[in-house]
Amino acid sequence: PTNYVGFDTITTQIENRLVKRGFVLNIMLVGASGLGKSTLVNTLFSAHLDESCGRNTVYDPVERTTEIKVTSHDLVENNVVLHLNIIDTPGFADQINNNRCWDPILRYIKDQHNQYLRRELNADREKFIKDTRVHCVLYFIAPNYYGLTNLDIQVLRRLSEVVNVIPVIAKADTLTLDERANLKKVLQEQFEQYGLRMYPYNDDTGSRLTPEETQFNKDIRSMLPFAVVGSEEVIKTAKGEAVRGRRTKWGVINVEDVTQCEFVYLRDFLTRTHLYDLIETTALQHYETFRTKQLTALRE
Ligand code: GDP
Ligand code: MG
Repeated sequence: PTNYVGFDTITTQIENRLVKRGFVLNIMLVGASGLGKSTLVNTLFSAHLDESCGRNTVYDPVERTTEIKVTSHDLVENNVVLHLNIIDTPGFADQINNNRCWDPILRYIKDQHNQYLRRELNADREKFIKDTRVHCVLYFIAPNYYGLTNLDIQVLRRLSEVVNVIPVIAKADTLTLDERANLKKVLQEQFEQYGLRMYPYNDDTGSRLTPEETQFNKDIRSMLPFAVVGSEEVIKTAKGEAVRGRRTKWGVINVEDVTQCEFVYLRDFLTRTHLYDLIETTALQHYETFRTKQLTALRE
């Protein structure tokens, strides 16, 4: 066409820039000890985590009950670099009195927003501000029959106001399929009842999403929380396939088999379909809310 000047190639130009810079994803793990947090994250990024060199930093909150540990990994797939930071919270809810055990976690999230804001407001600010904001919390719910505990409700209430929370049912292999379905139903009712806003949200304020994306989010929401199984072991099935799974007295649980658990759905959701949305939603909603509050407080 004669009127064509070629500005549609801007998408390729943007892509090249973004690819060159890489992406940062900060995932935080929250839930009681022994629910399989470390195992699941190793299962999620297994192939990559062993080979990449992890860097460890320990964030030192004032309260010593919950530690916060950050491990960093650079993952590469087809020239795209993902700087993955895993923020673990060992010791969470391990005390006899768990009153306010969520404080160090909330403080960490807030501190990262604060640091970002300071850098942004700095007169000679960096071109690319290092992003340490938490893009999502994987919240581990115990595989039980009654759903959320009081502690879960208290923590989720606070977390879901400041960060994207993706709930998972931990160690789902310890529940029968009926028990799983039932627990899911109970949990969805509780989310509703206590006004806990889980990611992905159903109010797309900026109308950023296409109708297909909105429908997809709706489908995902009806599946929450993902019933997951983790394993760091690669085992052979009866057919001789090597799979990541758990060997029990009664057979092998293949974590990648969607008829056995929803691990694959969680992985696709996090890394294939919603990776960028998690980053964007953090910036446009959670960070923006924080920023507005801080700046309004300054003005008054
Ligand atoms: P964390 O304290 O939450 O980090 O839990 P870990 O990942 O250290 O796991 C605690 C224990 O639970 C280990 O013995 C794991 O092998 C086991 N475990 C982890 N994930 C699963 C799972 O999906 N199902 C079962 N049955 N056990 C698991
Ligand atoms: Mg752990």
